[in-house]
Amino acid sequence: IKRVKLNLESLVQGILAGRSDVLARAITLLESTKKEHRALAQEVLEKCLPHTGKALRIGITGVPGAGKSTFIEAFGKMLTKQGYRIAVLAIDPSSQKSKGSILGDKTRMEELAGDSKAFIRPSPSGTSLGGVARKTREAALFCEAAGYDIVLIETVGVGQSETAVHSMVDFFLLLQIAGAGDELQGIKRGIMEMAELIVINKADGNNKQKAALAKVQIDNALHLFPPPDSGWYPTSMTCSSIDKNGIPEIWEKIQDYFEFTRANGYLNARRREQAIYWMHESINEYLKDDFFNDEVVKKNLPIKKQQVLNNQLSSFIAANQLFKEYKRR
Ligand code: GDP
Repeated sequence: IKRVKLNLESLVQGILAGRSDVLARAITLLESTKKEHRALAQEVLEKCLPHTGKALRIGITGVPGAGKSTFIEAFGKMLTKQGYRIAVLAIDPSSQKSKGSILGDKTRMEELAGDSKAFIRPSPSGTSLGGVARKTREAALFCEAAGYDIVLIETVGVGQSETAVHSMVDFFLLLQIAGAGDELQGIKRGIMEMAELIVINKADGNNKQKAALAKVQIDNALHLFPPPDSGWYPTSMTCSSIDKNGIPEIWEKIQDYFEFTRANGYLNARRREQAIYWMHESINEYLKDDFFNDEVVKKNLPIKKQQVLNNQLSSFIAANQLFKEYKRR
């Protein structure tokens, strides 16, 4: 069937009416390699913006195998049963180039994917993490305009992507599994410091005791962290995404957080700070694009490269010369 071409008006109306098919197509425009598609997506975004801001934005990270998709499925199903509409987006740094994806695609979370109250979208691909992250943030805004109550943004615990997710969510959840002893090994301190809650997953069967022990160790470590700006002290909890033990308690904790940070003003302050952060990120991206697409830069870059390799120019001077030629235009 040939799909009808959607214009600005019908896209906006479809999104605001909560139509997931229109939402999906708007996100596709956002991710398109065609300039006119992306321009249309930006116009749609502008119209949607006044209708955003009501959703709870939750980030989830954890190493591959920690159980992110199993957890999101259990958590998401519990929420849709309570009547909430939930959107799940992802930032997968490995979807750059053609390294393949760590997070996998739509085949994960099959039960949730078939739920009419859930919208699941795999990570956009892109050449830079910044670009992938920006597209995900914009997709999240579309989801909010479409009336989703909770937007979950998932990423893998293998690099810079946590920072990107952290800069677009209200609440950051780190999913852990109990290991063989030192629970803090393998958790990067920086990531732990970003988390509002650490959940030790797979607390079932023979693993229950290990998980309880891990919780003690993690809580001890959290005590040593400096007091957070939010006034909210991160803690840890255990759960089983398979038995579904602990999942309702996690949701309660998250709701407590929102109540707390709404009341003390932190929620709003964090969102405002994030909006400015993303403005700067976009400026950086535009500048970089503009620079590398400049005809003179394109012509001279290989020449400068060779001169640097031949020790005729320092890296700094080469960059400086390129920049001056670019600026002159
Ligand atoms: P992801 O890579 O973080 O998305 O991890 P997955 O959700 O794909 O889970 C990795 C493996 O751990 C799968 O085999 C899951 O069935 C298993 N798993 C996930 N959560 C639990 C849990 O709570 N308990 C147990 N026993 N296994 C789990």
